Amino acid sequence: MKIIILFGPPGAGKGTQASVLADKLGLYKLSTGDMLREAVASETPLGKKAKDIMAKGELVPDNIMVNMIRECMQSGACRNGFVLDGFPRTVAQAEALDEMLKENNCAVSHVIRLEVDDPMLVERVAGRYSCASCGEGYHDSFKKPKEDGVCDACGSTDFSRRKDDNRETMTRRLEAYYEQTAPLLPYYKAKGVLSSVDGMGNIVEISQAINEIASR
Ligand code: AMP
Repeated sequence: MKIIILFGPPGAGKGTQASVLADKLGLYKLSTGDMLREAVASETPLGKKAKDIMAKGELVPDNIMVNMIRECMQSGACRNGFVLDGFPRTVAQAEALDEMLKENNCAVSHVIRLEVDDPMLVERVAGRYSCASCGEGYHDSFKKPKEDGVCDACGSTDFSRRKDDNRETMTRRLEAYYEQTAPLLPYYKAKGVLSSVDGMGNIVEISQAINEIASR
């Protein structure tokens, strides 16, 4: 069973590339950020706990995140393998994931790190928005709809921006990445599963590089 982690700071392109890769390999895309945003929108008890933490750009506690992944793995949705976007984000989460996988006689296949420099990360995150109807992603500078204010994919005129996609919160999210998430790099390097891809180029070339590693 293939288990692939897309790794990198906020704005590196993990979500976009996780969708492309999951479609290509027929794997389940598991995005903890998307799951949390859904919980916040539907005002579940978990969503109520996570809302302020996410708005500040901090990390949701490990026990909540690990339970979320455990439930997902138990649901059977992941049984053909999965691509993780946004998890693990701490060494404790990585250790818990390894334990859960071990119980199922499997292990992480690849951790693919997307490398993007900080100024570009801030630029990407501060300008991104999506169609409120179908979720198609856009950017103020890099990807505008063909017709101003109309979604290319579904024709909707409703767009939304993530509350945490602003320069101020992005600074805190980057700090959280360097303090709590970057220590995972030596953890996965020691296991021999870490590869890096230049995440600054165009989406198609990056997808090809990721696919080449994931298919090994
Ligand atoms: P993302 O969409 O991956 O950028 O995640 C958005 C926000 O959700 C993060 O800034 C965190 O507040 C929270 N979050 C997502 N995944 C995790 C995780 N694995 N551990 C802790 N917090 C998370």
